Amino acid sequence: MAYKSTSLLCMLLICLLTGCAHSDLVHQTSSIDALLQGEYGPLISVAQLKEQGDTGIGTFEHLDGEMLMLNGIVYQIKSDGTIHQRDNATQIPFATVKFFKADQTLSISDDLTFAQLSKQLDQHLPTENYFHAFIIRGTFKSVKTRSVPRQTPPYPPLIEVVKVQPTWTFENVTGRLVGFKCPTFSKGLNVPGYHLHFLRDDHSGGGHVLDFTTDEIHVQIDSSRQWQLTLPDTDFFREMNLAKDRSKELHKVEKDR
Ligand SMILES: [Zn+2]
Repeated sequence: MAYKSTSLLCMLLICLLTGCAHSDLVHQTSSIDALLQGEYGPLISVAQLKEQGDTGIGTFEHLDGEMLMLNGIVYQIKSDGTIHQRDNATQIPFATVKFFKADQTLSISDDLTFAQLSKQLDQHLPTENYFHAFIIRGTFKSVKTRSVPRQTPPYPPLIEVVKVQPTWTFENVTGRLVGFKCPTFSKGLNVPGYHLHFLRDDHSGGGHVLDFTTDEIHVQIDSSRQWQLTLPDTDFFREMNLAKDRSKELHKVEKDR
């Protein structure tokens, strides 16, 4: 018992001195190319996800909407536009999360589109070659989002699903963008470039972000050198052909406006 409490105390001290090593680790469940091919089954529970982070994005079992995690709460943005808080038993097929700790903060009060803001944020990143998490809160002149509708097995590939995805444009809204910029070399595993999800402050809407125009925003950036990837423990994944370059398909799925 004494030994246990001493080692706990040591861990706590190390945590305090180093700023807690785990807080700089990006955890990822499954690969983006597996998701593209229809790996929408249960891989990790919300309870387990909370051990890996308090902030992030992903989707739900059966591809049932867009996932946004903020302050340890998991929000589901369904294809009917409704928002739900999901409990610990909820299953997730794809997610990227971390314990968010801002390395830098910026305030921007220009009207910037997604492309323009991306360029501006790029100038503040220490490098293109790390993983960067973002929480961007404030007011937006507009935000265009989408969500994905729940699927039933046998699951179709994501490119088929997004052909019927609902999109929304919110005007003059307050809310938060949460997400990551992953390096180009993460191609095939995550989404290279900016990938953000949106949640309105009044929880009346959100989704995977296609475009926006900012008004007054406050940006928090958390850069990480550590990336932990857990691949699916499924026959579907083990038998999947992952040799093909799916960049064009991914661009259609993630970025088409
Ligand atoms: Zn997304």
